[in-house]
Formats: sequence, structure tokens, C-alpha cells
Amino acid sequence: SSKADDIYQNLKQSAEEHKVEKDVQIVKTGCFGFCEKGPICKVLPDESFYVEVKPEDAKDIIEEHVVKGRQVDRLLYKEEGTHAKSIENISFYQKQVRIVLRNCGFINPENIEEYIAREGYAALEKVLSEMKPQDVIEELKASKIRGRGGAGFPTWKKWSFTKDVDADQKYIVCNADEGDPGAYMDRSVLEGDPHSVLEAMAIAGYTVGADKGFIYIRAEYPLAINRLEIAIAQAREMGLLGNNILGTDFSFDIEVRLGAGAFVCGEETALLASIEGNRGMPVPRPPFPAVKGLWNQPTVINNVETWANIPVIINRGGDWFAGIGTDKSTGTKVFALTGKINNSGLVEVPMGTPLKDIVYNIGGGIPKGKAFKAVQTGGPSGGVITSDYIDVPIDYEHLAELGSIMGSGGMIVMDEDDCIVDVAKFYLGFTVEESCGKCAPCRIGGRKLYNILDRITKGQSSMDELETIKQIGHAMQRASLCGLGQTAPNPVLSSMKYFEDEYLAHIKDET
Ligand code: SF4
Repeated sequence: SSKADDIYQNLKQSAEEHKVEKDVQIVKTGCFGFCEKGPICKVLPDESFYVEVKPEDAKDIIEEHVVKGRQVDRLLYKEEGTHAKSIENISFYQKQVRIVLRNCGFINPENIEEYIAREGYAALEKVLSEMKPQDVIEELKASKIRGRGGAGFPTWKKWSFTKDVDADQKYIVCNADEGDPGAYMDRSVLEGDPHSVLEAMAIAGYTVGADKGFIYIRAEYPLAINRLEIAIAQAREMGLLGNNILGTDFSFDIEVRLGAGAFVCGEETALLASIEGNRGMPVPRPPFPAVKGLWNQPTVINNVETWANIPVIINRGGDWFAGIGTDKSTGTKVFALTGKINNSGLVEVPMGTPLKDIVYNIGGGIPKGKAFKAVQTGGPSGGVITSDYIDVPIDYEHLAELGSIMGSGGMIVMDEDDCIVDVAKFYLGFTVEESCGKCAPCRIGGRKLYNILDRITKGQSSMDELETIKQIGHAMQRASLCGLGQTAPNPVLSSMKYFEDEYLAHIKDET
């Protein structure tokens, strides 16, 4: 949509015209994260960082930079009037620690050798040659990594449950059914670094005794699907997937399964049902998938971001990973920073980074000098964090204390002009639309809540309906069958807690 393909073609054409096509490699890569300034074109080895590149700029990049060795000044990223000549000088990146996104924007994701050149498959090799399955579990335990899909469950425990079950067949599943409005972390990892997920799944297969993996990804992600399929084919060709991996007796292979875009299929039991070819509807837990999952067999299921961390933990050690972030929330978290923010994009920061750093130092603050009002974390399952809490460290514990959740990592910023009731109504409308309808608290409660919010925004509500919102919301939280319904009222309840005056103003304005 930003004509990046045209830029690529024009760069190639211009290189041929200047007869430098053999001196310069023009490579497509994954997301740099700095979406606000895309399309981005980085020239190596001097790391020139060209932003907002248009197809017609390609000629200048070849003529000036490649042929004459001069940076194209007008395309270089500028900050406070000065040119940031390389990525290290750009404030958007300075407070970031890129573990999950380590290869995004650095490698050609369609070339396995570029992944291998950056420690790719070294962790799998290490695991197969030096480590017993229990050693891998111990390393994950030392890292204290928790699942990045939302619930924050310790990854080592999940793997242990599956490892310890005696079964002929076990499975490994990657949840790439990213569906939160405003979230695109998983898509970018798969587009920019698909091998990191494949490598991690193979490590899990070895650890728990599984020989088959599935990646469940929504069909709306065609580039990510394409790159995954290329990556799987290349890994098979190099003996990194398939039978007797790296000459050992360990075999493991992966299949991609496409989801049709139902948000509820991000819930793990619904996702597994969908892979089996059934309608994607949640079932009660326990039993948990780790013990009884795909086709009733023990199944490890993690989301893309969790998987992408695994090879690094194996390579550098669990203690190294545990040294990043906070005591209970270790490592980093990737956020999709969007909404009313100057630098929208993908941001990876150590857990515990204050919200203020994300919004102002990395995000560059609010456009047009407007006041920060709140940020919604956790998408339609999360809640708002207001300006009073802008210094709060972003980790699992602090977000839960504030009535929000980490979720998968959507972070939507609102400014003083945004109406909080409209925002809550938007999220609730989304979950009502996406409810599978299996259980009454979610199917009926969600619709009733939505109708009340609709009446409030239309001036047809009364004060006593605020109490009804709380009653329905709490009933949904307690009685819904799956996470979708349990968390659907969160945006409403959390915004009422911090912005009750806005709800009251809507009602008073109209009565
Ligand atoms: Fe379906 Fe909602 Fe019940 Fe989940 S909570 S099972 S989405 S109706």
C-alpha cells in the first residue's frame, strides 16, 4: 500500500542502468518497526536510514549513494533539525531492546542463510547435540519467560506438563491468529523472521517428544503465510525440518493451517478445534491442551512472540534472559503502538519500562501538542491506563493492578479529543460481533451491555443503567466460558472506573 514493491523494482532497474547490479544487493526485508516513517530503505554498510521513500526516490539512492558514495540528504531521517545518520541515533530505537525483533529489518526472510548467519538454528543444533529435554525445561525455568499471548503462564510449566504425559503422539502448535484491532506484532515477526518460530517449535518438539507441529495463522496475512511456506521448504531442504534432523534420530515437521478470521479462534481450545476441521468454539478447561489438546493428544501451544524468544534463551542462557525486565516479568515485550501518537510502529522494550518512556521517548508524544488522555492495552480484552498512571512500569502485575491486561501487545493511544464512551463501545461492538454464541453470559450479556452503551451515546440512557453495566459486566467476567467473554466487559468497566464523569456527562447532557 505504500508502494514498497515499486521502490524495490525501481532500485533494481536503476542499478542495472548504472551497471552496478553486481556491486549492490537489493534485498527485501521485514518490518523495521518504525511504521510512521515507512517505507524505509537502509543502505549498508554505513547504515544510512532513508525514510518515507517514494518510488521516484530509488533513482537518487542508486545514483547518489551507490554510484557516487554520497548520502541522499533529503531522505535521511531527521530529528530535532539534525540528521540521524544511522539507526543508533534515532530516539525511536534508543530505548528499545530488540530480542524478538532481532532479525526484522536485518535479514532477507526468504533466505535461510541470512537467518543462519545471525545465530539461526544454532539453538536447535545446541539442543540436539548437548542438551537433554529436561535441560531445555531448566533453561526456560531459569529464564522465567511467560507466554506472550495474553495470560502470561510460565512457558516452562506448559512444556513440562506435555513432556511428562505418556502418549504416543504429541503436538506443537503456534498461535498466529492475531486478531486484536490495532495489533500486528505476530504478523511482523512472521514476515520478517519466520525461521525463529520454526526453530523454536522444533526445539519444543524435541523437548516434549512431539514430531508434528502446526502453525495456525489467519488467512488475512498472505505475506506472512508465503514467507512461512518458503521458510518451511528451505528448512526441510537443509535438513532442519523433516526426518533425522541434523543427522540425529529426532524428526519433526510443520504444517501451516489457515484460519478464516474468527477472533475466537485465538482462544486455544477453539484454535485446536479449528485445526481439527471443526467449528472454532471454545470448550471448558481443564483438561488443558498441554495434557489433552489436538486430537485429544498432549499439545504445547504458544503464540508467535513466545516462540521467537526461545532460540535466544537457548543460545544466551536463561539467566541472561531473566536479567532483562523485572523479577516476575522477564525479557521484553513487543507492542504495536498506534492511535494518537507521533511515532506509530512496533516497539520492543524491556518489561517494566514506564509507559511514559513508550509514549514520549519512543512514541515521540501526542500529535499537534494535544494532551495525552489514556492508552488502551490488551485490545478488546484490556482496559485503559490514564495520564495519572503514566509512570507505571508496563509489566503483567502492574497492568493487572490497574484493571487492564498485557494481552498480546496492542497499545492504542488516545488524546484529549477522544470520547472514552465511544472507544468502549467500539471494543464491545467488536467482541459482540466475534462472540461464538456458545454461552449465554457472553452471547446475551455482551449484547445487552452494547445496547446500554449505544443508548448512552445517543442520549437515551439514565443514571441507573450505570449500575446495570457493572452488574452485567461482573456476571460476564465470572460466568463466561472462555477468555473472550470473561474479558469483553473490561474496556467498559475500566473506562467507567477512571472516566465515570464522561459517562455521567453523556447522560446529563442528554437529560
Ligand atoms: Fe463463545 Fe463468548 Fe462463550 Fe467464549 S465466552 S464460548 S466466545 S459465547
